[in-house]
Amino acid sequence: MTTLSGKIALVTGAGSGIGRKSAATLAREGAAVVVSDVNEEGGRETVDIITGAGGEAHFIAADVSSEEQVDKLIAGTLAQYGALDCAHNNAGIGGPLVDLADYPTDGFDKIISINLRGVFLCMRAELRHMLPLGTGAIVNTASTFGLVAFPQAAGYVATKHAVIGLTKAGAIESAAAGVRINAVCPGAILTPMVEEQAETLSPGAPDAIFDVLNSLAPIGRLGQPQEIGEAVAWLLSDAASFVTGSAMVVDGGWTAR
Ligand code: NAD
Repeated sequence: MTTLSGKIALVTGAGSGIGRKSAATLAREGAAVVVSDVNEEGGRETVDIITGAGGEAHFIAADVSSEEQVDKLIAGTLAQYGALDCAHNNAGIGGPLVDLADYPTDGFDKIISINLRGVFLCMRAELRHMLPLGTGAIVNTASTFGLVAFPQAAGYVATKHAVIGLTKAGAIESAAAGVRINAVCPGAILTPMVEEQAETLSPGAPDAIFDVLNSLAPIGRLGQPQEIGEAVAWLLSDAASFVTGSAMVVDGGWTAR
């Protein structure tokens, strides 16, 4: 038996990395999945991966920093499948990799608009649908950087701490109405975002960065996007029926040190 049979799920940032594996895992667990991304090509590839494995998926393009596009995304989900039971608000960017004293204002504004405003807009639209029905589950992608800081990532660290705050605020307001909201906090996960950052920090020799990232986690390696997808599927399922307002760490032990 699968854990999300008959559910309708939405995943943002599902055209790559963690979002793609989350969408595929939710589909494997029986959900029909709305795959959303600002990158249409990546999103359509994810739909092909899911349908190729026998699952059900539909692509809707949306930039999560746009209120209008997020509202259309929720309306499009309801038009396509007639329901929205589970949402994984995952779209995000890494932003500038510089010290706070050098951090550019436009880079700060951009990361706030996608990583924080995007999660806010999605949560609000999802709750407006779920709360009157008295059921639903939401997972937001935060990060270990939502719990601890790291050098040269002030904008990212700020947005991920704020995503945990939004998660808790939404969770305590929505619990009595039957809607659960949690965050997942991945450690270093091998995705295109991290590969690009490693190349930026160490041009032509990204392995130097991967060596550092491998050593951060006592497990001794980076995580795989699938390992986040499994956590998200569990948090969205009824198996997590008493879990709300949590920031679930999936980091190979990094923050336990
Ligand atoms: P990724 O770059 O592989 O995927 C991110 C996806 O988000 C891309 O498909 C991109 O097109 C999409 N996206 C970017 N801006 C968007 C926007 N405005 N609207 C809609 N979609 C947009 O990166 P990833 O590593 O899979 O990251 C996914 C999430 O996981 C992010 O929120 C990231 O901060 C978080 N995270 C990643 C790691 C890691 O180590 N990879 C660790 C902790 C948290």
